[in-house]
Amino acid sequence: MKKILCLLVVLSFALPVWAGDNSSVVMNVKTYIYHDPNCRWAKKCTKNCVKTTKQKAQAQGARACKVCGG
Ligand SMILES: [Zn+2]
Repeated sequence: MKKILCLLVVLSFALPVWAGDNSSVVMNVKTYIYHDPNCRWAKKCTKNCVKTTKQKAQAQGARACKVCGG
């Protein structure tokens, strides 16, 4: 039973990555928050931000911005 639970936990983490969203986002590599490219915070952030995809940002443990929702 424990093995099944473990597998379910792993799957629930892995699934969002598999079904990942390839839309482009701007990720702040200091705060690990990603933004929609049109977000006002994304436009302000030039130094620590890199263009990536939502999928990759999430894979690196980044969170969605609270303002634009990523
Ligand atoms: Zn944002």
